[in-house]
Amino acid sequence: MDLDCLSCRTVFTAPDFLACCRSYNRAANASSWICAHCGDQVDIRVVDDEIQRGYIYGAGTAHFSNEHQLPLPGVRAIEDGDALLVTLAGHEWRIPPRAPGKSPGTPG
Ligand SMILES: [Zn+2]
Repeated sequence: MDLDCLSCRTVFTAPDFLACCRSYNRAANASSWICAHCGDQVDIRVVDDEIQRGYIYGAGTAHFSNEHQLPLPGVRAIEDGDALLVTLAGHEWRIPPRAPGKSPGTPG
């Protein structure tokens, strides 16, 4: 199955697709994915050998609704603090945590 954008139908290679992950929502265990071509945003979850595409919704706490699975053999996701480390075929992508809503206050 192709890793494509639902809006503009651009088909991505696996590395290009993973590079579009912008922020990791640890509470929902899902990442924001923004199409490099049209800028459309969807939510994805990376699990072993599979990308799940859906959306994050709030119901007290954040949840992820899986709409469809995109098989991607070999992909792995490892939590790295509040970030997510995605690995595939010897490459890795670090998806930073979503920016906190509170104002930054840490000196240094
Ligand atoms: Zn697109």
